[in-house]
Amino acid sequence: MNCSLISVGTELLFGQITNTNTVYLSQKLNVLGMNVLYHYTVGDNPARLKDIMKFALEKSDIIITTGGLGPTQDDLTKEIAAEALEDPLVLHQPSYERLESFFKRINKKMTDNNIKQAYLPQNAEVFQNDVGTAPGFALSKKGKIIICLPGPPGEMKHMFEKYTDKYLRKKSSHIIHSKMLRFFGIGESALETELLDLITEQIDPTLATYAKEGEVSLRITSKRESMKEAEDAVDEMVEKIKSRLEGYIYSYQDEELIEVVAKKMIKHHISISTAESCTGGLLASKLTDISGISSVFDRCIVSYSNDSKIEELGVKPETLDFYGAVSRETAIEMVKGIKKVSGSRLCLAVTGIAGPGGGTEEKPVGLVYIAMAFDDEISCKKFNLRRSGRSWNRNYTVLLMLDMINKALDKKLINRQLSHL
Ligand code: ATP
Ligand code: MG
Repeated sequence: MNCSLISVGTELLFGQITNTNTVYLSQKLNVLGMNVLYHYTVGDNPARLKDIMKFALEKSDIIITTGGLGPTQDDLTKEIAAEALEDPLVLHQPSYERLESFFKRINKKMTDNNIKQAYLPQNAEVFQNDVGTAPGFALSKKGKIIICLPGPPGEMKHMFEKYTDKYLRKKSSHIIHSKMLRFFGIGESALETELLDLITEQIDPTLATYAKEGEVSLRITSKRESMKEAEDAVDEMVEKIKSRLEGYIYSYQDEELIEVVAKKMIKHHISISTAESCTGGLLASKLTDISGISSVFDRCIVSYSNDSKIEELGVKPETLDFYGAVSRETAIEMVKGIKKVSGSRLCLAVTGIAGPGGGTEEKPVGLVYIAMAFDDEISCKKFNLRRSGRSWNRNYTVLLMLDMINKALDKKLINRQLSHL
């Protein structure tokens, strides 16, 4: 089915906010196997919205609007959508009651313009708003569907995931199944090159790559008559990709690297501590984003200065003098130090030059040493990051540390399984 998106809001045209709704919806519709043909953006102007709606209806089977569903005068999307498909607005009793109880709960008087939100097209399937006040809806008439969703991204996403997604799946004559593989250590273009034949030949399943801050994802989607057929087609493609690129894949279920790593440590009770110089505690901060991490995460020492490396981690002043703070020798002494104070099974230490200043010819910006102590085994890796942006370097360094942890955990867990044989 062909689909177009209409974003309503003058602030989008002024460039005051970024249109994140279309990015989100396009990705979701892609997963559902819909062809997104157009993105339109229009201000809170009824005449222009009417024009665009008419034009979009000629071009597509489904239109999804976001924004302009609120209680104020300039919120007119619903009225124009109902008019476009010639459906009258009537009071929707369940929405009215929800609004009434909402205002009672917050102890505020419900005004007439709030009541306006409970008027919905007579033949619409209503999507209740669990996180806001304006309900959304889908109106199917004359062989076309208009879906109206609220503008605030949190409300829109919640509504889409809980109600609209199901509605669209019902409308589709096919079953759509997809899997998202996550890669680290390979760029988007290298990934495409490795899979070029599969990408060029693709009919079903289809392959789509997405790149994000040093990571790449690949979505494999199949559209078939039955779920079994779609699942088999996707699994077969996953196997083909795995046989070529297994070393780079860290998740087959669209998880973040931090989630994958944290889950494994929690499951296998592997305690962890970090000593962070150039990342300033960023890895520890990411770890503490994960619920349940307290069972394994012990501490982080942010040892930025030489003094702190000496006093808190026991790095030798001679090492710092002779090799410098950004060196293999310092990273190894840092990791030994954090291991000694924490006693954690898995310890990481990092030292590097995040930039943009501070680089020399010998030690350029982007030079990073990551040392790891896992039980009695100590290793250290040197990286030369190619970009000079401070924030990018720091974030990427955290991904490198996570990747090292992930691979070390896998190796340890495989060895442990083998030793049980
Ligand atoms: P409300 O009940 O809050 O008025 P609404 O459905 O009428 O909701 P708008 O008034 O159009 O929606 O937008 C409300 C807010 O939602 C905007 O100020 C903006 O912060 C956010 N928003 C709207 N559209 C988008 C969009 N396309 N992308 C990102 N944010 C958006
Ligand atoms: Mg509004």
